[in-house]
Amino acid sequence: TVRTRFAPSPTGFIHLGNIRSALYPWAFARSTGGAFILRIEDTDLERSSQAAVDVIIEGMKWLGLDHDEGPFYQMQRMDRYKTVLADMVTAGLVYPCYMSVAELDALRERQMAAKEKPRYDGTWRPEPGKALPPVPEGVKPVLRFKNPQGGVVAWDDKVKGRIEISNDELDDLVIARPDGTPTYNFCVVVDDIDMAITHVIRGDDHVNNTPRQINIFHALGKEPPVYAHLPTVLNEQGEKMSKRNGAKPVTQYRDEGYLPDAMVNYLARLGWSHGDDEIFNRAQFLAWFDLDHLGRSAAQFDEAKLRWVNAQHLKAMDDAALAPIVADQLMKRGVRADERLARICGLFKDRCDTTVALAIWASAFYDKVMPSDEERAQHITEAIKPALATLAAKLAECEWTKAGISVAIKETTAAHGIKMPQLAMPVRVLVMGTAQTPSLDAVLELYQRQTVLERLQNS
Ligand code: GLU
Repeated sequence: TVRTRFAPSPTGFIHLGNIRSALYPWAFARSTGGAFILRIEDTDLERSSQAAVDVIIEGMKWLGLDHDEGPFYQMQRMDRYKTVLADMVTAGLVYPCYMSVAELDALRERQMAAKEKPRYDGTWRPEPGKALPPVPEGVKPVLRFKNPQGGVVAWDDKVKGRIEISNDELDDLVIARPDGTPTYNFCVVVDDIDMAITHVIRGDDHVNNTPRQINIFHALGKEPPVYAHLPTVLNEQGEKMSKRNGAKPVTQYRDEGYLPDAMVNYLARLGWSHGDDEIFNRAQFLAWFDLDHLGRSAAQFDEAKLRWVNAQHLKAMDDAALAPIVADQLMKRGVRADERLARICGLFKDRCDTTVALAIWASAFYDKVMPSDEERAQHITEAIKPALATLAAKLAECEWTKAGISVAIKETTAAHGIKMPQLAMPVRVLVMGTAQTPSLDAVLELYQRQTVLERLQNS
């Protein structure tokens, strides 16, 4: 069965470009009946933080990217890595290297001067019949992996196609530091083996690590997984999306009123396609997702497009499901909603592209409204006040239904010989705080009678 993983480093707040690398392996596992594993690569102690882990977990939960196993933390697996290292020492797959930093620098400089690619020269690599330099005293060695010499390391990348790297381009990688701690590429391989990962779907910033990782797999007698390296996500300025150039933490999109399904839809399309289909729900996405239609070129983030996708999902969403999300947004603004909220959502969702916009509309039902002086001056004229008084009197008596309210409005316009908008505009301004609202009877019905009467008096 398929086993995929998301392996973020919690070195900053996870952004949309990062979370897309969670979406695809999650979708692949879900659409194949496989397992999705979350692994936190927290070995960079200086740059990792619990706050960043929290955003990863919260963001994935919000987007519904549920994992079957984990989260595993690499820092908690150190003993395991050290055991494998010890086995590799015993098996002669690694060797100690005593080259000092100064010597390595000098080597690099010589190679640069000769216009060669800087690489470790194998000084300490044991070979039959080769005399190694004398071991310097008091120096703790690093452990280097005996990379195969000659031949190529190759894989069929699900995105990039066949990739072949000559082993002569790879030097002997340091896999343990002088203090015995294992290095990044080695930990990743041990984890991918232990977690029985079948498909590694990750950003193509790791493509250079892949041949090294494959060689370690082979040295450990294991078959490497299938790799799919995703092209970069660019920001709106065309730079690689990164926290350093202003990418937002993914949870901020929740706060700004985006729906999880809309985010999943948008991110799915940012690097994968199913014909011309733009708008789809989660179930459709999982039914369609495959690795063969991952895009090969960099995708560019487009916030206007994201808003449009969000608006489509908002329109299609069930009012009862929308209400609790909007209630949360209202709570954040100190406004408490009630059971009317689902119907309010139904009435206003077509004119909104975020749940924040919807909450702003809804707050006119639960909180004071403040029409602008301009709108008041334009609509609340002396001439209309008698009609407003008539309407208030009728609304005080009528049946509080859309039909009952509609009759009260029509009787008022007839009695004063005015057209509908002449009455409806000022009522909207007084009751909702703005003249641009849906049909008046539908709006008023969602208010409590008492609130409408109070607000009409405010003319
Ligand atoms: N921890 C790596 C990152 O956040 C991902 C490693 C991998 O997927 O193999 O970029």
